[in-house]
Amino acid sequence: MSLQENWNLLQRELQELSYSEVTIIAVSKTKPIELIQEALELGIKVFGENRIQEGIEKFLPLREAGKTFELHHIGPVQTGTLRKLFGLFQFTHGVGSVSSLQALSKQSEKSKQNLGFFLQANLTGESNKHGFDRQSLVRVLQEVKKYETEYLRFIGIMTMGPSNEDPILTRKVFQECNQIRKDCCPQAKLSMGMSGDYKIALEEGTDFIRIGSKIFGTR
Ligand SMILES: *Cc1c(COP(=O)(O)O)cnc(C)c1O
Repeated sequence: MSLQENWNLLQRELQELSYSEVTIIAVSKTKPIELIQEALELGIKVFGENRIQEGIEKFLPLREAGKTFELHHIGPVQTGTLRKLFGLFQFTHGVGSVSSLQALSKQSEKSKQNLGFFLQANLTGESNKHGFDRQSLVRVLQEVKKYETEYLRFIGIMTMGPSNEDPILTRKVFQECNQIRKDCCPQAKLSMGMSGDYKIALEEGTDFIRIGSKIFGTR
């Protein structure tokens, strides 16, 4: 199917299921700039990239050419490279440690550019996954405001389902994430769900879905 067909199908599906408030982040990682240009022409405005450098290489020329879009960073935030987020990216979903949160906070005052951030939660118990476990997430959420600056705003919580894509476990993880939101910070947004599990994420109350292959084709 073409990009246009994929996009129309996804949009229609969200409308029919009454999730028209949910934001689709079109994840264009590994895909060429020509395809992103085509997406812009179709009216896609919100994109996601997991590698900062790749995001800059593809999206900076588009920004300089006067295109309007919103760019989300969805990969892990690392202290060594996070300064590059400021300017081009409006959001990052991958804050997974207190030290990177501190560094982000400090850098935002130096860069003087707006950035919204999501704390990444690892609720599957898989040790290979980036992010806060439940206990540390709850602790950070209690004091998250203190890391905000004039430029850096807390937006919400991002999480991923288990690597084995088991639908029952996926639902449990998304439910737990929504419960933590309700208990700790009802105003926070949720970023859950990818091509394989976005329907479960929608049912469990997500605000953002991050869709790559279902829009741009397999990688
Ligand atoms: C690649 C990626 C996505 C999109 O994955 P698809 O399965 O292609 O939809 C979503 N979120 C994160 C964090 C990713 O790295």
